[in-house]
Amino acid sequence: MATGKIIDGKEIAGQLRRQLQEEVQSLITEHGVTPGLAVVLVGNNPASHMYVKMKKQACADVGITSFAHELPEETTEEALLSLIHTLNGHPAVHGILVQMPLPAHIRSQRILEAISPDKDADGFHPRNVGLLAVGAPLFRPCTPWGCMELLRIIGVKPAGQSAVVLGRSNIVGKPVALMLLAENATVTLCHSQTRNLPEIIHTADILISAVGQAELVRGDWLKPGVVVIDVGMNRRASDGKLCGDVAFQEALPKVAAITPVPGGVGPMTITMLLKNTVFSASRCVA
Ligand code: NDP
Repeated sequence: MATGKIIDGKEIAGQLRRQLQEEVQSLITEHGVTPGLAVVLVGNNPASHMYVKMKKQACADVGITSFAHELPEETTEEALLSLIHTLNGHPAVHGILVQMPLPAHIRSQRILEAISPDKDADGFHPRNVGLLAVGAPLFRPCTPWGCMELLRIIGVKPAGQSAVVLGRSNIVGKPVALMLLAENATVTLCHSQTRNLPEIIHTADILISAVGQAELVRGDWLKPGVVVIDVGMNRRASDGKLCGDVAFQEALPKVAAITPVPGGVGPMTITMLLKNTVFSASRCVA
């Protein structure tokens, strides 16, 4: 395996971002196209403000132009739709991201469906979801794609392996299961109604956890030699520290490799957003 037992998502994301920086430079110098990402934020959610700030900084680091649209909490659904239509037609905007969650009076699904599927940097538009499901992805959702990139880069080949996914959300669990299936893994998708979770987890050669419960998965549930990608971002009740869904210290002696939380999947998510934006810009010059 190319990296150590603890998968350094920050380092791997850094390598990918350096490659993206070069791609951006060649788009600019050879084609006169600077990739552009519109980032739309509605309301005052502090976590959303922090994510948007990180995304803008990441864009700047690789040479992508970001167009920030920060709108007040009381923005109407119609006003937001109107902005999205403008961005859909804007030639300098190659990717559009609407930061979730939106205020309760705005229907998120309606907004996601209004984004042009050709500028869908988050990969949430139903057309892109469908393309992923039929095995012909265009824009891939960022967190699941980041998980798959981690596996690829550390040299794990899913084909023929037993992959267990915990969580079936539209943003992580379901798409990562489809991606593993596309790579010929034998996939088991678990959720809150799954019985015998420890036994199922014990069958996994690859475990991807996206539940959101601190240290749900115990070390003795794991098969020796498993590769663990822990998407969960939780606060541990005992000390308030960030932790994953998998009890990291218990898991460490059992696993072939594992992502830490923080510093595992997190840095990959924004990197894949940048990758989708650069991909979108490159489609304009192809
Ligand atoms: P959701 O809350 O949308 O989904 C959680 C899933 O876990 C659901 O499918 C739920 O099942 C399932 N679940 C709940 N309890 C159990 C259980 N005991 N056993 C098995 N499955 C269970 O969460 P998200 O997918 O949005 O996020 C999951 C985690 O990943 C969160 O901690 C989130 O913060 C983190 N995250 C991290 C990102 C990153 O970049 N690092 C990006 C996105 C998310 P059911 O469907 O039956 O309710």
